[in-house]
This record gives sequence, structure tokens and C-alpha cells, in this order.
Amino acid sequence: MTDDNNLLRQLETIQADALKALETAADESSLQTWRTAYLGRSAPVMNIFSRLGEVSKEERPIIGQRANQVKQALEAAFETSFTTVKEAALQHSLTTQKLDVTLPGRPQSHGRLHPVTQTLREIYAVLAEMGFQIYRTRDVETDEMNFELVNIPAHHPARDMWDTFHMTTPGVLLRTHTSPGQVRAMRQYNPDPIRIALPGMCYRYEQISARSEIQFHQVELLTVGRNITFGDLKGTLEDFARRMYGDNVRTRLRPSYFPFTEPSAEMDVECFVCGGKGCPICKGAGWLEILGCGMVHPTVLKNGGYDPTVYSGYAAGMGVERISILRHKIEDIRYFWGNDVRFLEQF
Ligand SMILES: [Zn+2]
Repeated sequence: MTDDNNLLRQLETIQADALKALETAADESSLQTWRTAYLGRSAPVMNIFSRLGEVSKEERPIIGQRANQVKQALEAAFETSFTTVKEAALQHSLTTQKLDVTLPGRPQSHGRLHPVTQTLREIYAVLAEMGFQIYRTRDVETDEMNFELVNIPAHHPARDMWDTFHMTTPGVLLRTHTSPGQVRAMRQYNPDPIRIALPGMCYRYEQISARSEIQFHQVELLTVGRNITFGDLKGTLEDFARRMYGDNVRTRLRPSYFPFTEPSAEMDVECFVCGGKGCPICKGAGWLEILGCGMVHPTVLKNGGYDPTVYSGYAAGMGVERISILRHKIEDIRYFWGNDVRFLEQF
């Protein structure tokens, strides 16, 4: 009994001592020190809780209850003092420190367009001037549209040129190029003439490296009509190159192979970094490959609903990231999807 009364007396002393100490805590840091001392894990009131086991069964709830009251009283006193101290500190800073309204404000940083978007918009502007209409088609395609109808049947060796992301649904895939849009556009417009640009994201199942990404943008051109010749293709692409790279840029066509065009070619522009003398960007060649092109293959025309004995057309395709890389001398294609503002802020 004496022991128990002793604990109750101790609680009274603990509370009185703590409240007295709190009166002298006049700033935030001394208040925190007080809290650690009187409400922390090894505070005197906590010590009473751990000693409840020594007390008789009858007295235990009484002492426990009293200890709780003391703890709550100390917490409440702390909160009150803490609010008072903070208020006082704020009042002090308002009255003693002057507000200088002439200080410059914090600068707002502006967002900007992704370098690929900038290049895309420039291409659109040039093509629009030349009378091409933008035609968007889907990213998820069928095997038939992506391969078969553009003259790449199953088991065709050219399929190795496009490593493909296949969906779990058989025959459905992410387009490996914008060419399936050719067939969709032809089926929509035939027998009318076509002059369109097909922009969009393409996907290839490839090892990501400094030179190749699994997703990238292409812009493809397609014209179909009567009497369209290889001369039209050459003239249009030379005009495009001049509008994109400057009036004096020199271009050349090299024979190439694509399953959906016949004949096929690749177009180079004179290296705009070294002016044709040879540099690391053009790997010493003096020329930069900018697009692939050719006359639309008769089979593709037929698949689009045009009679290849009456109609002809040309197609060309370019990689937008590649154009951005050449233009800004970017050494790693992975920067485009790295989402690093230090890279993006440079454009
Ligand atoms: Zn060069």
C-alpha cells in the first residue's frame, strides 16, 4: 500500500517538475529538448508505466489511470507552449524583418517541345507547302496490313528486316513501319489520286543501343495517280530536301531494295556538317542518308484497289529521330526517351 501511494506521489512530482521546466523553454529547440526529456521513451512518466507490474492488482488501474492523465496533461501543455512559441517567432520576424518588394521574383521555367516534335512539325510545314495532306493511321496493325498487303508475305526473307512485337492475339502486331497506312489510304480514296504524308510511331523488337530504339517516328509519303513517274519522285524529293536543308543542298539517289517499291532507291544529302569534305557524322563519306523511296510496287497498288496498268505512284519514308540526330549532332538515340530535362532543355 505504501508503495502504491508512493507511485501516486511520484506522479504528482513528475507533473509539477515537468510543467515548471516547460515554463523556461522559450524557443522551438528547447521545447523539443523538453519533449524528449518528459515525454520520450525514458521519461519519468514512462518509467511509471513500466513499473505497473510491481503494483497490487487492486491499485494497478488507479495508478495506470493517473499516469495516463499526467501524460496527457504534459502533451497538452507542450502543444500549447509550442503554438505560442511559433506565433511569437512569426510576429517577431514580421516586425523586425522588412519585406523588400523590389526583389526580383522566382523565375518560372517554361516547358518546351520535344526535339522530335519540333522536327515533325517542321516536316509537316514543308510537306503542307508542297500539297501533301497528313493522314494518320493506327499503331496496332494486323499482320496482313503490316506485311502481306505491302508485298511481304509470310516466310518472305525480307521479314527479317523488321523484328516485330506480336500481340497475344494471333495476327495482331505493333506496326514496324508506317507503310500499312498506304494500303488503308488507297482503299479509302481509290480511284481518286492521292498525295499524303503518313506520320507515326513505329515499333521494332530490337536490342536498345546508342543507334537503335524499339520505338521511333517515321514519316512516309505516298502519291498515286495516272502518269506518275520516277522523275516526279526525284523532283519532289529534291524539292523537299532543299526546303528542309537549304536551297544549295546537293542530293543523290542510290539504288536500293524494298519489297513494296520497284524500283527502289535511297536518297542522300550532302553532309551539312562538313559540307561534303568528310567528318565523323557522315563517317567520312561526305553524304548522309535521309530517306528510302521508290515507285509503288504493282502488287501494293492492286492491294489498295488501283489498277497498276492505269495508275502508278511513288512512296518515300524517313526516320524522324534520325533527322533530329543529324541536325543536332546527338550521339545517342536513347536520349529521346530518357526523359532527362538536362537533355530536353537544350532544344
Ligand atoms: Zn560530314
